[in-house]
Amino acid sequence: QPPASVASTSHPKGLYVLFMTEMWERFSFYGMRALLSLYMGKALLFDKALTSRFYGNYTSLVYLTPLLGGYLADRYWGNRRSILIGGLLMAVGQFCLFGSASLYVVGQAEAGTTQQWLFFLGLGFLIFGNGSFKPNISSMVGSLYPANDKRIDAAYTIFYMGINIGAFLAPLVCGYLGDTKNPADFKWGFLAAGFGMLLATAIFELCKHRYVVDAHGAPLGARPERRVAASPVVPRTPDAPVRAETVAAPATGISAGRLLQLAALFAAVYAAIAWYMDRDWFGALVFAAMLVVPLVVLSDASLTAREKEKIYVIFILSFFVIFFWGAYEQAGASLTFFADEQTDRQLGAYTMPASYFQSAPALFVILLAPLFAVGWTTLGRRGLDPSSPLKMSIGLLLLGVGYLIIAFGVHGVVASTKVSMFWLIAMYLFHVFGELCLSPIGLALVNKLAPLRFASLLMAVWFMATAAGNKLAGVLSGLYPEPGKAAPHFLGVEISGLYEFFLMFVALSFASSLVLFLIQRRLTR
Ligand code: GLN
Repeated sequence: QPPASVASTSHPKGLYVLFMTEMWERFSFYGMRALLSLYMGKALLFDKALTSRFYGNYTSLVYLTPLLGGYLADRYWGNRRSILIGGLLMAVGQFCLFGSASLYVVGQAEAGTTQQWLFFLGLGFLIFGNGSFKPNISSMVGSLYPANDKRIDAAYTIFYMGINIGAFLAPLVCGYLGDTKNPADFKWGFLAAGFGMLLATAIFELCKHRYVVDAHGAPLGARPERRVAASPVVPRTPDAPVRAETVAAPATGISAGRLLQLAALFAAVYAAIAWYMDRDWFGALVFAAMLVVPLVVLSDASLTAREKEKIYVIFILSFFVIFFWGAYEQAGASLTFFADEQTDRQLGAYTMPASYFQSAPALFVILLAPLFAVGWTTLGRRGLDPSSPLKMSIGLLLLGVGYLIIAFGVHGVVASTKVSMFWLIAMYLFHVFGELCLSPIGLALVNKLAPLRFASLLMAVWFMATAAGNKLAGVLSGLYPEPGKAAPHFLGVEISGLYEFFLMFVALSFASSLVLFLIQRRLTR
């Protein structure tokens, strides 16, 4: 059979199955996230500091478990089964949250024990479910194409739009149902998120046999032992017709002794960090992983020097991306507090729910992603296309500009006044300019740089940076100024009001953008 035309711009049908599946999964994820902080504040009656801590821990752990999910898929389950298991776990999680929210009693002074336990149980299911789902659906996108196919970048952009259509609809639907004046309504929002997850799983299960296949019609993402039997080993060269995703993962080249050493190192680092972080046992996991997982990957004896160089680039870029998500992911936390309490949400007689603002960045991604894709290609044709590290540095800069705009908007504003929603929306627009320079670029870059046998693991490393970023987001959101509480400090500077709070993100983004800019040439080389 002749190789699929590399120049072709049409995409395999499987891409649209993955698109629809991920769209509904993200609908479920972001629908729940739009309500999460509000539910903790208004129905579980946690204060902002505690809410921010749980928000950070949850959103960090959902992106840390892909390490486990990627490993289990490569070794035992394959992508398909992992996606099914992950989907079902997440649906159960959403229904636990529905149960928790159903136990809320109007006017209660504090949350009941069962209400709290069901809440944490639900988060647990979501954390492990996402770990099984997210890395596998993400790496399957690339595996639909022959190695080095020119269409892979476009495929990830299309996939990224699917993510954001789900993320756009989610706060509108789940926020409409759950974020009302009555905290007893939260349950309907969580229920909708649960149904979204069931729909995602059903779409994948019904369509995978027919469409999620390689150029020869062989199923993609089967369990490793079946994969070996089904497909010949295909080297990853530009003209290989089939992506070698179909090759079973080879045994890892790490010795048992070395693994034991690394496990001991992890335990020690973890305990020290958790202690330092005020015994935040869940929050410390991600930072310990950040330090030790790179050592685990690099300990593999089968890596060549050239492969190691490429992996270093993934690690270094992942490090900078932490600061991006740390500021960007305020959307579900401090920026939702801000939307709720200090943004004028009145449109005539209609009051817009605070959760709706989380739709804004997703809408901007949907509108702008095609423009960016065309823009990069046009620049590329003239040889003016910035390198991926330079794009990421620009992305951080634009994120900082967004915070600069909103800092300007709240300058001199006291806690009891509300500012125009223009500020929040203009800020989100710049966040998305930044995101489009960084996030889809990163997914595609990891896919290209990672040695094939580490594809899922390194995709999980990329998400691990998101995990650390989300934890950082929770920590920083905890510094949100609350009237009547002592002003918190960040690196010795007092965060006495919203202006200082937003400037903190300006400083963080500009500083990391600058450092990345200074080293981008080396990284590109
Ligand atoms: N918003 C994207 C998603 O939900 C990117 C997430 C990330 O990597 N931080 O998939």
